[in-house]
Amino acid sequence: MLVLNQSYEPLGICRARRAVVLCFLGKAEIVERADGLRVHSVNDSFPIPSILRLSNFVKIRRRSVPLTKPNLMRRDNYTCQYCGVRHVPMTLDHVVPRTHGGKDSWDNLVCACGRCNSRKGDRIPGEAGMKLARQPKKPHYFAFVLSSLGKPPAEWRPYLFIS
Ligand SMILES: [Zn+2]
Repeated sequence: MLVLNQSYEPLGICRARRAVVLCFLGKAEIVERADGLRVHSVNDSFPIPSILRLSNFVKIRRRSVPLTKPNLMRRDNYTCQYCGVRHVPMTLDHVVPRTHGGKDSWDNLVCACGRCNSRKGDRIPGEAGMKLARQPKKPHYFAFVLSSLGKPPAEWRPYLFIS
């Protein structure tokens, strides 16, 4: 069960039993129900949340995903951000080339196939007549860790900022 902060930022995952208890105690509210799943007590039954949101804001220490080549590749799903090709050797492309002042950063590095990288050369995408599939940005720590464990349920994805 996906746990969201009061701000809707993803915080972690918990077991169904804990999710139900948190909602029952009024410490969290159900954002999405798990399809048709309920827990039963002697006199009653409660829906099991698939996503719950805490009633109080929890302050957490922000951790960040290290900027490394494997992590950049994973963020971009090993897909060339210019032509969409996969399953070919990938390189990292500086969207704004270093010679133009481009930095080594999450929002300036993308996964690109060798063909696109050499076609783009030392130019910004517009100059080369190329377009990025999406604006690169720093991944959210928890969402990044969770997505590495496998494909999260479809209803979680909007809250994890992944498509
Ligand atoms: Zn490409």
